[in-house]
Amino acid sequence: MKKSTIVITGANRGLGLELCRQLRSDHEIIATARVPEAADDLRALGPRVEAMDVADTASVNRFAARLADQAVDILINNAGRGPARVGIAGLDFESSRLDLEVNSLGPMRVTQALLPHLRRGNGRRIVHISSDLGSLSRVDDDDAGGYYVYRASKAALNMLNICLARELAGEGFTCVALHPGWVQTDMGGVDAPLKPDESVRGMVRVIRDLTTADNGRFMDYQGATLRW
Ligand code: NAP
Repeated sequence: MKKSTIVITGANRGLGLELCRQLRSDHEIIATARVPEAADDLRALGPRVEAMDVADTASVNRFAARLADQAVDILINNAGRGPARVGIAGLDFESSRLDLEVNSLGPMRVTQALLPHLRRGNGRRIVHISSDLGSLSRVDDDDAGGYYVYRASKAALNMLNICLARELAGEGFTCVALHPGWVQTDMGGVDAPLKPDESVRGMVRVIRDLTTADNGRFMDYQGATLRW
């Protein structure tokens, strides 16, 4: 049986790299990195590695063109920029603009460019790696706030996922926003309670079990529904 094809963005380190590691035996992986020549750990895993900067439309379109008439079953929009630990006085607007470019618009840019490939596939799943920091309801008494633009970028991503889910539902797509938990990566830091392999084991199970009934959901790596 032909293996399904999965595109994973930002796959040179962190959760993207671990997603490649856990999915590579059963799937054909197309992994993207901004600088493939520097992605030693990723190349050692042996997937097809392609260059793509998700903030750069020309780079995304060049990647889509290199895929030619390849079918893609699952797109995992994983690439992201981490939170800046600053208050309002410390907000840097150039850096904030890039946060929104990468975390919110990046996934839409990649999805738009790969839609023809996804339409050729049978999987029709689009997974946005989001964050519970993007949940408006999570900002309760225990939450100290902060991380302004990261939170906003993931809240926007959740809304963009909903729009996509509605638009593509008729074509049998399942689009979800998936929170990986707080994980020990460069972004999550050493105090995070989860190791990448545990988070990704959960996410792989969730992605494998997705059905069209999940279209538009915001869920965590254990499959639990999160509040918006
Ligand atoms: P990470 O270790 O910092 O890795 C981030 C990845 O995104 C790297 O591969 C990085 O590539 C890539 N990236 C950044 N900007 C990019 C761009 N413009 N174009 C293409 N790739 C780009 O972070 P992570 O923890 O694995 O995070 C993966 C996803 O999970 C992110 O969307 C993040 O927001 C989300 N998340 C993480 C946690 C956590 O606790 N770790 C919690 C909630 C959500 P370079 O090496 O080239 O920079």
